[in-house]
Amino acid sequence: MTDCIFCKIVSGEIPSYTVYEDDVVKAFLDISQGTPGHTLVVPKKHVPDLFAYDEKLAAEVFSRLPKIARAVKASNPAIKGMNVINNNGKVAYQSVFHSHIHLIPRYSDQDDFKMIFKDNSGKYDEAKYKQIQQSIIDHMDDDND
Ligand code: AMP
Ligand code: ZN
Repeated sequence: MTDCIFCKIVSGEIPSYTVYEDDVVKAFLDISQGTPGHTLVVPKKHVPDLFAYDEKLAAEVFSRLPKIARAVKASNPAIKGMNVINNNGKVAYQSVFHSHIHLIPRYSDQDDFKMIFKDNSGKYDEAKYKQIQQSIIDHMDDDND
């Protein structure tokens, strides 16, 4: 895609601090360095978000993550854990619309990364869980229609 910043990074038109590259993905330092070592893994093929992956591309891209994550973790003994995040849609904080996976090394609960999961279970009863469950199940085979 001509006007896509990550396509330009993939092609080398825009420089990046690349840490891994093969025929399927390129991994490079996120310019923001949310925590030190913050790395992005992007498919070389332009896909806007997770919803646009087919099974083959997903298998190819996501199977690369453990190897890259292990190398990032091994790069610094102070790294104790890692958040792996994939934002899809503006409402979900996606700002670059060429799919990418964030590898965010974690150093302590006082480092610069925060994520909040609110526990709303008190607002749900069995009927409500089941209605949501069924609604998702009903759409599981949409791909094959
Ligand atoms: P997201 O908000 O999930 O779409 O993440 C996009 C990420 O791309 C942000 O964390 C940016 O810091 C990062 N980013 C944007 N431009 C560049 C660039 N030229 N090189 C490296 N990272 C970039
Ligand atoms: Zn692109």
